[in-house]
Amino acid sequence: MIKEPKISENQREIWREPVNFGRFAVPKGEIHIFPERCKECNYCTNYCPNQVLERSPEVNVYGYHPVRVREDKKDSCVACGMCQSICPDFAIFVKEVKIQ
Ligand code: SF4
Ligand code: SF4
Repeated sequence: MIKEPKISENQREIWREPVNFGRFAVPKGEIHIFPERCKECNYCTNYCPNQVLERSPEVNVYGYHPVRVREDKKDSCVACGMCQSICPDFAIFVKEVKIQ
């Protein structure tokens, strides 16, 4: 499904839609987390452009609260890969899902 970009009224005044915008769909990602590897550094939660991740109330064997996908953001991952690139403990990875 192709989504319209979210822009404010101020941005709309200077917004120019790329000529080939309609040819591209926003990618969608499926997040996989290894809770036992997470050390709650929150790099991924801070750098995710769509705020998809949050600290969970659960505690892992090391006493950290591992991250989880936010309930209200289950469909918001755009598979940018930032979380898996920035995680120092290889505790998270993203798989791009095929858009029908
Ligand atoms: S892949 Fe990108 S959008 Fe998806 S959870 Fe990771 S940082 Fe956020
Ligand atoms: S970057 Fe890795 S270790 Fe840090 S909070 Fe995220 S998943 Fe956990």
